[in-house]
Amino acid sequence: MTQAICAHIQSIEELKTAEKYACEECIKTGSRWVHLRTCQTCGVTLCCNDSPKKHMTAHNHATGHPVIISAEPGERWLWCFPDEQFVEY
Ligand SMILES: [Zn+2]
Ligand SMILES: [Zn+2]
Ligand SMILES: [Zn+2]
Repeated sequence: MTQAICAHIQSIEELKTAEKYACEECIKTGSRWVHLRTCQTCGVTLCCNDSPKKHMTAHNHATGHPVIISAEPGERWLWCFPDEQFVEY
């Protein structure tokens, strides 16, 4: 069965891609990241939940910005936090 795509993801017209391949919060503290994600509301690039600091999830909790994309080369997907929806593109 095909899952309906949520309104958050449907409302995105143009994907925001990572300006720099780095987590800006990890850089401040000298932490390391595993994978990078880019927020589709404000364009910030932060680290994933496999990273020690989980900065993107913290950003979602702090701001409510719902949708991220993978910033990893070769990965083409979106994730909506409130709907827990994974969409490949
Ligand atoms: Zn959504
Ligand atoms: Zn980070
Ligand atoms: Zn954001």
